[in-house]
Amino acid sequence: MLRLTQIHKKFDELEVLRGIDLDLKKGETKAIIGPSGSGKSTLLRCINRLEIIDSGKIEIKGRALAQNNSENVAEYVSEKEARDILSCTGMVFQQFNLFPHMTVMQNLLEAPVQVQKRKKEDVIPEAEELLRKVGLFEKRDNYPSRLSGGQQQRVAIARALCMKPDIMLFDEPTSALDPELTGEVLKTMRELAAEHMTMLVVTHEMAFAREAANQVVFMADGVIVEQGPAQQVIDHPQEERTQAFLKNML
Ligand code: ATP
Ligand code: MG
Repeated sequence: MLRLTQIHKKFDELEVLRGIDLDLKKGETKAIIGPSGSGKSTLLRCINRLEIIDSGKIEIKGRALAQNNSENVAEYVSEKEARDILSCTGMVFQQFNLFPHMTVMQNLLEAPVQVQKRKKEDVIPEAEELLRKVGLFEKRDNYPSRLSGGQQQRVAIARALCMKPDIMLFDEPTSALDPELTGEVLKTMRELAAEHMTMLVVTHEMAFAREAANQVVFMADGVIVEQGPAQQVIDHPQEERTQAFLKNML
């Protein structure tokens, strides 16, 4: 579904991504863990073209979003084609990013109606179903400011799902939440993983990574240090750096 090949990215002189290879298969949940500043958010932002890679290849469902030219510099497809390729991805950020002037229901309807040009009457039942799924049907007419952080984040997930994505990207969706609110968001994500949504999840939640992810990727200093089946990487890390990181997390 998603394949990254030798992704390199610099901010000025700072090499943030130094040759990342990653393959996300259909129905798979992959968790990315690693210390602060290791390049996890940058990697997700590059997939979504919020940042531009310097070299490497990004393929989504078999279509190249960016690939190297003969000088080894990444070239992107046109703006229009990029939007089309990325239309099968949904992203949830650390900050919930809901539209504050819209109700929960309006937040869900906005992109399907405005971007996908779907009929509002057709989207409403789907949006209601998604709100039921995240346990917030009764909040449909509330404004985001009236919801808890955990509720807002579940709305953000429902809003992304309302676009019917094939791949969901999550960047630390629970790290801005009070500890007692992380559980409800992780539960929603666990359910999605159990339904075989294809997901790439940057997370500090080791229990979530261990139980809900199929694969865990440990990143440090812009490279993948270790990756493998979730329980193997978390319970029996092979690399010293992974061991040191996990020791600090527990
Ligand atoms: P955290 O766990 O704290 O979220 P991270 O692994 O997501 O960390 P990134 O946000 O990807 O790390 O940042 C990687 C490095 O790139 C950091 O050193 C950061 O300061 C730098 N960086 C990120 N965005 C920019 C930017 N727009 N301009 C310059 N430097 C940046
Ligand atoms: Mg980050």
